Amino acid sequence: MKQILFTILLVFSFYAHSDDFKAHFINVGQADATLLEFSKGVVMIDVGAENGSLGASRNSLNTYLTDFYQRRTDLNKTIDILILTHNHYDHYKLILDLSKDYTIKRIITTKFYLESAKDVVKAAKKEKIKLEFMDYRLMDSLMPKGYELNLTNLVRPGSTIPKLSLYSGKVSVQSHQTINNESFSKTPFKDPNNHSIVSKLTYGKTSMLFTGDLKTDGIRYLTAKYRDNLSVFDVDFYHVGHHGAENGTTQAFLDILTPKIALISAGDTTHRNSGSAWGHGHPRKWTVELLNNQSSLNKQDPIQVHAYPDEEVNPETIEIKKEIYCTCWTGNIVMTVDKDGKYTVQ
Ligand SMILES: [Zn+2]
Repeated sequence: MKQILFTILLVFSFYAHSDDFKAHFINVGQADATLLEFSKGVVMIDVGAENGSLGASRNSLNTYLTDFYQRRTDLNKTIDILILTHNHYDHYKLILDLSKDYTIKRIITTKFYLESAKDVVKAAKKEKIKLEFMDYRLMDSLMPKGYELNLTNLVRPGSTIPKLSLYSGKVSVQSHQTINNESFSKTPFKDPNNHSIVSKLTYGKTSMLFTGDLKTDGIRYLTAKYRDNLSVFDVDFYHVGHHGAENGTTQAFLDILTPKIALISAGDTTHRNSGSAWGHGHPRKWTVELLNNQSSLNKQDPIQVHAYPDEEVNPETIEIKKEIYCTCWTGNIVMTVDKDGKYTVQ
């Protein structure tokens, strides 16, 4: 009897989780926390909190992850890889919560501004997690395929193997630098946002791009570096840079990406502190309209959403007709994708 039960359990656990991949855009307010779920493992990109609303962000993350790991008991409360795109509060601040309650096997971040993100070093030291750092010196040596992470162990044997490629990291700009006819000065790179790690998940026929908070100069630097290989950024799904800020996406970049779907992580409209969506004016009306006019984006029935014309002003209602999603409009977003590219967004 015992053996039969064991066999049933084994068969059940084998078939319990399909080969579909899920991207969970967790609503942690004006911050980023994305969980990529596979049949046998998890990757997280950022685990931030809204500056000024730490408690609310913490509660949201805890509730979401408790529920997630109760469903996925087979994952043993483990996060296989945590990528911190850059060392800003809204991208790393919940790392101590995460490392206390869950086993993180590997953290990848950038050294730029790390001194301000003491919790990252503290969590790594306390839980003996290896910290790995991405920078452009490494990327230059791996051009154009980027730093590839092996995700074979995150899926069942014999199924489609996802691939995660990292393309950027800490930038070292001399006073003036020219890369493939584009010139760069030092000043914009004093901003940690422009050192964000850009990553692409490829799964079967589909791909998803994450650019952290990369701003205009960081995007220009990235595309100048990869000028002869821009097709590596041609993706289906785009996690919109810098929470939908006016400086996180450009038309030239969208023309390279040609995304079908855009997903934004931003906070709700009720908060009025400087670290809130209102304080930053995210998502910016200009960006949502840019996305809405992007011909590659899939059409959907018109819906009314809010976006900000500027920072610290009331949001406006606008109509969108393309597949653009924001945690600030609907809360947590779960996107399910199969290896052939069929997807649903909930
Ligand atoms: Zn941010």
